[in-house]
Amino acid sequence: SRPSENETNTMGKHSKGYKSQGPRNPINEALLHQRQSLPIYSARNEIIRKIRDNRTVIVVGETGSGKTTQIPQYLMEAGFVRGFGSGIAVTQPRRVAATSISQRVAEEVGTRLGDKVGYSIRFENCSSKYTKIKYLTDGMLLREVLSDPLLLNYNVVILDEAHERTLRTDILFGLLKSIQKQREEMEDENNKRKENRLSQNNDKKTDGKTLDLENKQPPRITELKIVIMSATLDSEKFSNYFDNAPVLYISGRQYPVKTLYTKEPQSDYLDSAHISVLQIHLETNPTSGDILVFLSGQEDIESLEKLLNESNKNLPKHNKILTTPIYAALPQREQNRVFDKTPPNMRKVVLATNIAETSITIPGIRYVVDSGVHKSRDYDSRIGVESLLVQPISKSSARQRMGRAGRIGNGVCYRLYTEYDFQKLDENEAPEINRRQLTSVILTLKASGIEDILNFDYIDAPSIPSLKNGLIELYSLEALDDSGKLTKLGEWMAEFPLDPVFSKVLYESVKYKCTREILDLVSAQSVETLFYSPADNRQTASEAHKKFQSIDGDHWTAINLLKMFDSYRENGTKIIVFDQDSEYPTENPEYNEKRSEETKAEGSGQRLSSRKEKEVMSAGKLEYWCRQNFVNYKNINYVFRVRKQIETMLTRMGIDVTVSCGDDTDSVLMCLLSGFFYKCAMLQPDGTYRSLVGTQTVHIHPSSTMFRKRVAAIVYNQLVFTNKLYAKGVSSIQPSWIQTAAPKLYGNINFSS
Ligand code: ADP
Ligand code: MG
Repeated sequence: SRPSENETNTMGKHSKGYKSQGPRNPINEALLHQRQSLPIYSARNEIIRKIRDNRTVIVVGETGSGKTTQIPQYLMEAGFVRGFGSGIAVTQPRRVAATSISQRVAEEVGTRLGDKVGYSIRFENCSSKYTKIKYLTDGMLLREVLSDPLLLNYNVVILDEAHERTLRTDILFGLLKSIQKQREEMEDENNKRKENRLSQNNDKKTDGKTLDLENKQPPRITELKIVIMSATLDSEKFSNYFDNAPVLYISGRQYPVKTLYTKEPQSDYLDSAHISVLQIHLETNPTSGDILVFLSGQEDIESLEKLLNESNKNLPKHNKILTTPIYAALPQREQNRVFDKTPPNMRKVVLATNIAETSITIPGIRYVVDSGVHKSRDYDSRIGVESLLVQPISKSSARQRMGRAGRIGNGVCYRLYTEYDFQKLDENEAPEINRRQLTSVILTLKASGIEDILNFDYIDAPSIPSLKNGLIELYSLEALDDSGKLTKLGEWMAEFPLDPVFSKVLYESVKYKCTREILDLVSAQSVETLFYSPADNRQTASEAHKKFQSIDGDHWTAINLLKMFDSYRENGTKIIVFDQDSEYPTENPEYNEKRSEETKAEGSGQRLSSRKEKEVMSAGKLEYWCRQNFVNYKNINYVFRVRKQIETMLTRMGIDVTVSCGDDTDSVLMCLLSGFFYKCAMLQPDGTYRSLVGTQTVHIHPSSTMFRKRVAAIVYNQLVFTNKLYAKGVSSIQPSWIQTAAPKLYGNINFSS
């Protein structure tokens, strides 16, 4: 039901109690005022009551109404958190959302981030035992289930952005439902015991349930409250799934938005976005509102930023554009710029991925430019390629994007596609669980104590064949034993946050005594290429690349490159500059420059920190080295960052990461095969290769060092289909190694031919 007038009127009464918890300094007074003017505030008591009276509640509310920032605070204020181990967890599909929202909420609560309010994302935990409200990615909550199977650390779990239907949120639906039931059973037992005790002493029965808000009956310790939140949601489906849970609708403040389509399909959406932004900027009053552009990812955003900054030079002094990008890999302090007030005589142009669709609300937007695309993970089970592709959005995404223009007044949404094309879009994007490889899912489910994968309570069940394929792959990887139980290796893989195949290879590297090399090899696969081959200088580039090349193929070529880079770096005793706030290296050279200027400015008048100076200098040197050797500086930085992370995880799990096999190429390739045995192909008489799984004709990609080479057998990182089926990232192997690597899979194949 929608909150009624009546409840709005009762607010005065309760807001007194609300204020008494309030902050003491003037900044927080302003924040408090802002909190109270959010649309959700009038529904505060109803929300608390509904959650108190029901095990599971579904909250649907317009983006920006205050669900994510306010509901956890309301619950904390209403006494849902009592002492340690009874906090509120709020899941987010995106890291950026978890970090930026928790920061905001910490400010509102008046606490240091990591104290009462914190966050936890992969590789970064900013919470403590005092944390009462924790924002975390859905993946992190899944990992917490591993160590705390009944999630006894929490009284309330809020699954936010449920409409996104990420794989992990979907698993959490089923897991939490089951955890809730188990905790209820525990509670029933406790109650029975208590009742027995009571009836011995007293004949009167106590009734724990109450509807009276003033009577602050604490939520029972074992009970787990589940709150499902979303901007748009198939609420009926969710309500059915959660045993007819009540649905609460929060009305937002939404002004009408005019939608404009292009007359013709656009061949280059970046170019169109550039023109549209300038047009809007020049044709409307700069004080009327800011512009939000939706793009597919970091590359798009950086390109458009460059274009706009170029155009900015031609704009009059009093009417400039201020671009503020936001995407996952952007350092935290850069991300925060989107929330800053626009300086006078400037118009803010926010360049965002679909993070700004429903996860975070940027104030002041009046115009939306929608490219119509996003990046989406897709899994093609036929050839086993997992890829991140730029794809058209769904109608429902397009509507969300449009809605962002109507927050402060009548807005306009410019769709960079035709109305005809809009009509052709899918209504919703299919749930990720139906688009992904399932091995990680199965491992996680198994590790969470769910044995019967085929009959798990999925909200949308994956197909039985794909589940069976996943089980077979895990069995071949020796993650599951004959009875389908997790092996020791399987448990390790479930604990290790990488694709199971890579986890296995890293695990086996101990046996092959080549952890150092495998670490390089696995990290290198996190980028498309380590090399740089400009179209106008291909010859020189390929000459430069020769010194890294290995006759064994691409894997050792990558290892050689990383080894040389390492030794150059160490001999120069220089340190590479990584940005501390990001999981990713700084990829924008302009930003690096700015950073080095900042560093200089910081020290001006004072003693310059010599370490900082050294870092900045060495970054330049390393970049120079990369340019000389036609190595992709941006990507190699990224690989180092990833390597550091895996290194830390391995060390934590007791594996010595310094163990090296020197240049024993065979060991490394055999070790690689222990995970990649299903990505092998055998030479055919005609010079092509035939894949062992799927028996397809495979060609070696021209980008490979193995291009046009004939060896008995190959292992590859991936297959891509353009005009032919190509193997990329290829190395030469001995056919007999394959059988050794996967006796369970290839036991019956005769390799003698
Ligand atoms: P919902 O989850 O319903 O989409 P949120 O709770 O995320 O809404 O946001 C509520 C309001 O708080 C929004 O109007 C938004 O503009 C504001 N807000 C959130 N984070 C920040 C921030 N870092 N700086 C300024 N305002 C913010
Ligand atoms: Mg939200």
